[in-house]
Amino acid sequence: MSNAPIPITITTPVTVVPASPAFPASAKVTAEPVVWLHRWNPALMSFRLRRDPSYVFIPGQFARIGLVKEDGETIWRAYSIVSAPHEPFLEFFLLVVPSGEFSCRVGRFNIGDTVLVEQMPQGFLTADRFKQPGREQDLWLIATGTGLAPYISMLRDEAVWKRFENIVLVLSVRERHDLGYTEELEQLAADHTREGMAKFHFVKTLTRDRLHGALHGRINSLVESGALEAAAGVNLSDARSRFMLCGNPEMVETMRKLLKSRGFRMNRKLEPGHIIVENYW
Ligand SMILES: Cc1cc2nc3c(=O)[nH]c(=O)nc-3n(C[C@H](O)[C@H](O)[C@H](O)COP(=O)(O)OP(=O)(O)OC[C@H]3O[C@@H](n4cnc5c(N)ncnc54)[C@H](O)[C@@H]3O)c2cc1C
Repeated sequence: MSNAPIPITITTPVTVVPASPAFPASAKVTAEPVVWLHRWNPALMSFRLRRDPSYVFIPGQFARIGLVKEDGETIWRAYSIVSAPHEPFLEFFLLVVPSGEFSCRVGRFNIGDTVLVEQMPQGFLTADRFKQPGREQDLWLIATGTGLAPYISMLRDEAVWKRFENIVLVLSVRERHDLGYTEELEQLAADHTREGMAKFHFVKTLTRDRLHGALHGRINSLVESGALEAAAGVNLSDARSRFMLCGNPEMVETMRKLLKSRGFRMNRKLEPGHIIVENYW
């Protein structure tokens, strides 16, 4: 897919007012400008905000960002951070949900618009939760749609490449135009071919469309048929496989149950296991 931005006609400029009685200067919130926008298709976009130097996060975490509406009320939503900790901006990957109160406003963003950022990143979808003595593990990063976002952050950071022997990224979207970041992912894989770096396997699957080089069907069906392991060239194993599931709660739940039936367990603080999940709604 080309990275060339798709021209969009912006008909209704969004008004975002950073100063609000709801957010006095003492609140742990900063107002950041939009510094970059990219539209993958009319409903799928990435954007970057200036990052306050004090904003520190772990790849895989999410930020809560806010917009002040025209009536003065502020609305907040969670978005996984796409950028890596060493990058000077906060990047996000967003689907404009039809009639979505927040995302429709983001869909009308212009460079220079202001967004509120709560100064406390959150979330536990982080690779450091899998404790391991050596590198003899395979990390399966499984996503639907924009659930890809936290994995881009992890992959832009060198640490995860050194921690696992294989990294398998599995991305399910409906149609080919719903794919984002594929060129970057291929480049990241090419940049990490050195000794001591994880071997990267990228499996795309489309549920409505067919595309050369991509599988067809839902992730759970591909696990059941063995097609996913075959496409990745990596086998599922109790000793080696560690899973992250992110995005559509239906996929997360179906996969969680399927993996459980294969003997994999949820990873808990006091009880190390195989699976960590993040639901987007
Ligand atoms: C921890 C966490 C991280 C998240 N990270 C992202 C992210 O990186 N990118 C992103 O686009 N969204 C993400 N979301 C969802 C996001 O917070 C909003 O819910 C979403 O943008 C819709 O908000 P809205 O006000 O426009 O729509 P609402 O009016 O609040 O509508 C919500 C409905 O939209 C649908 N929906 C919500 N999110 C998505 C989605 N990503 N893809 C498809 N359908 C969706 C669901 O049917 C949901 O019931 C995340 C949510 C959580 C809890």
